[in-house]
Parts: sequence; C-alpha cells; structure tokens
Amino acid sequence: MTDPANLQGELEEALTLAAAAGTAYANGLRSDPVLAHGAEDVAGSWAGELPDDGDGALVALAEIIQRARPGATRSSGPRFFHFVTGGTTPAALAADWLTSALDQVAYSWASSPLASALEGLSIEWLRQLFELPEDHAGVLTTGATMANFAGLAAARNWWAEKQGVDVDEQGLAALPAPTVLTSGYVHPSAVQAVGMLGLGRSNVRRLERDGVGRLDLDALGQALEQLDGAPAIVIANAGEVNAGDFDPIASMADLAERHGAWLHVDGAFGLFARVAPSARQLTDGVERAHSVAADAHKWLNVPYDCGFAFVREPERLQSAFAVGAPYLAFGEDRPNPGFLGPENSRRARAFAVWATLRAYGRSGYSEMVERHLGLARHLASRVDDAPELERLAEVPLNIVCFRVRPPGTPEDELDDLNRRLGEALLRDGRVFAGTTLYYGKVAFRPAIVNWQTAESDVDMLIDVLLELARADRSVG
Ligand SMILES: *Cc1c(COP(=O)(O)O)cnc(C)c1O
Repeated sequence: MTDPANLQGELEEALTLAAAAGTAYANGLRSDPVLAHGAEDVAGSWAGELPDDGDGALVALAEIIQRARPGATRSSGPRFFHFVTGGTTPAALAADWLTSALDQVAYSWASSPLASALEGLSIEWLRQLFELPEDHAGVLTTGATMANFAGLAAARNWWAEKQGVDVDEQGLAALPAPTVLTSGYVHPSAVQAVGMLGLGRSNVRRLERDGVGRLDLDALGQALEQLDGAPAIVIANAGEVNAGDFDPIASMADLAERHGAWLHVDGAFGLFARVAPSARQLTDGVERAHSVAADAHKWLNVPYDCGFAFVREPERLQSAFAVGAPYLAFGEDRPNPGFLGPENSRRARAFAVWATLRAYGRSGYSEMVERHLGLARHLASRVDDAPELERLAEVPLNIVCFRVRPPGTPEDELDDLNRRLGEALLRDGRVFAGTTLYYGKVAFRPAIVNWQTAESDVDMLIDVLLELARADRSVG
C-alpha cells in the first residue's frame, strides 16, 4: 500500500516542511547552545522495529524534525570550536539543498554534462583562488582524507613507474617498501591514506626535532641523500591541528626538487592561509607541490562532505581511478570527474562549491579568513590577559593552544584539571572546544573556521571556561 508511487502527492508538502524546519534550525545557530542538555536522551529515542507499513513522508519528516532542535549538535554554528569544523554559508546551504533536488550523478559527461562541467569550473576557480599553477587539475572528494588518498595515489603511480612498474595494473608485489617522509605534524588521515594505498603505515617516517613534531629539515635532507636516487614521497603539512603551525614547505620543495622526490601537501584547512595577505607566506612553496589536498567543508564553509585534490599530472589520477566499462563509454573527451577520484557514483558537490565562490568571490574569502585570524589573535589576548590561563603556542593561523593554570596549582595536577574542564565544557554545551596533548600537556585548542563566528562567540568561550574553572576549584 505504501509504495512511494501511491504517495506522490506528499512531495510539495514534504519539501515545504523540510525548508521551514531547515531554515528555523539555521536561524537558531546564532543563539542555540551547541549541544542541548538531554541531547543524548533524544539520540537514544531512535528505537523500534522496521515498520511493515510506512506512514508516509510527512510522518517520517516530523519524527526527524522533532528531534533536530533538542538533539542536533550545532557543529555548523559559530561557537563550535572543536576539531576544525566549518559551517555552511547561505549560498552553499541552499545550493546543497538543490543538489539533492536535482540529484545529478557527477560521474561523467554521460551521466550529467551539467554537473561534470560545473565540477570542472569549480575546481578551476579553486585553483585560481589558491593561485596554484595552471597545469594543476583536480577533483572533488568527500573530504581531505580522500583528497590525501587521491594525491597519494598519483604519488604511488609515479613512485612505481620510477621502478618500472605500473602499480595500478600490477599491484605492489614486485616493489620494495616505499619511503614516505614527513614531520610529526602529519595528520592521521594522511597516514591512513598511505595504508589504504597498500604503501604501509609503518613506512611513514616522521622526522621531528621536538616534542610537538616540528620537522627536522636536516634529517629530511639526509634521508633523501641516503636514498641515492631511489624515489621518495615527501608529505608537507600546511596547518597542523594543535596550533595551526606549518612545515617549512618551500624548504621541503627545494629538497624534493634536488633529490627528485614527489611533494604532497596536506593543506586541509591551512591552504586557506593563501587567501589572507597576512598569512600567505606560510604557504610559500605549495605552488611547487606535485599534489595538494584540502577540505571544502572546513574553511570554505560548504556542507559536509566535501574536499578537493589537485595534481600536477592528472593522467596519474586517471591511471589510478579511471577504470572503464563498455556501458559507461560516451564523451571521453569531455570532463569526466569520476575518472579522477576514488568514487564512481558521486554527489554533485560542485553546486555548493561553485555557489559559495560565485556568491562571495575571492575578496569575500580573503576578508573572512583575515577576520578569523583577527579573532584568533583576540582569543590569544584574552588568554594572555587571564591570570588563570596559560598560552602554550604561538598563533600563526586560526588555532589557539592554551590551558587552564590557576596561580599556585601544582604542575602535576594540571593535566587532570584540564581534562576535567574539557569534559565539563562539552557537557555544559554553550560552547564546544576539545582538548589535545601539546608537549605532553593536556591543552585546549579551539579552531576558528566558521563564517558566523564573531568576537562575542570567542569571548563566550573564555568566559564559560573561566566560570567552569572557578566552579571546579570551589567544589574541589
Ligand atoms: C581535517 C583534516 C584532514 C582530514 O579531513 P577529513 O575532511 O576529515 O577527511 C586531513 N588533514 C588535516 C590537516 C586536517 O585538518
């Protein structure tokens, strides 16, 4: 009875309901707590058996909508400083809704000329935004994990070719263990990508010179020297997640050039430093990379999930990913985005990317990133001014690493205190920021990438944390 074909009349009402609820949710992001008390109970209310007979779209939607307000994590709101999590600009959000309505399959020209052409243009606009060389081609992915995967798949193709093997056809069996060199700043997702490519996570060598993982540049030079011409893959990290610091990319590019290594840059959020005049020099050398990975759902502020990869020799992506079948053939000479990345059936993520770039342009992003860097400096000054807080790192970009340190508290109690306050902050729910380990110390590391974040949001983070710290002391 409830074959969807019998219930077509619901479509307009269902979409109207979704638009109204989505709009109310988005409007509430400024004022609602990041996580409401009782949100876990709401999550626990998903229960029951698969229904024999459905109740139609309106009932299903109502049950989602009823839980959204009390249950959803406002990770797209302005006071979510946890991880590095972007929001979604109005243009990107609306375009993303249309993406589902249009439901284009962004695999090939044959499946959708519209989406394929727009992905080509979106990638080209991103290339222009980040001022990468014209010979870079790219692809949209689900995020930086898969962008790292795509970039490193191209690297793997090159590395094997240097040894006379077509790895995409023949596999790894005939090849020696690879050499992958990076700093201690390497993101776990890049190591994961190395593993997924069969290159072996333990073959990633972190050449670090201190307790936070800064690159030992001399050690990198020596490691490349010792390879004696054997090919190596170097991963440079543009923006690490604890303090927003950068590897010395230009020096790594020099070494990669001198020794004929492949240079991959993970710039998940740090690539955006390139659009801010005050931070741009941190990314010097990115333009010399062979492959570059980044996220769009972080600092570009498009909805999850979306990332992108650029590769200097796109035929290496094709070698890894374009596996044809006779029934797919048509328009091979046209843009076929699915040939350049790991997914075949793909969401048309380009609508949101293009719309946000069309809406705000180069100057909009440049202003937004600069504003975020100013907010990070403001946050740092609030930390520096508070006797109970201690800043642990410089602030090169958009992350401030600090801990609570009430005067007179013994050092050996600080990790427990900060861990406790980290949990209390998430439980409190007004603002969200997580803890990390920095030089072995438990520390907060709020990151600012949301287009809506304002100075009052940053102030609230500090105010709530100080309030919780004082409460902890009066209880303890
Ligand atoms: C977030 C992040 C990633 C992983 O990106 P996903 O979008 O989670 O796939 C990789 N590298 C860095 C530096 C990151 O910050």
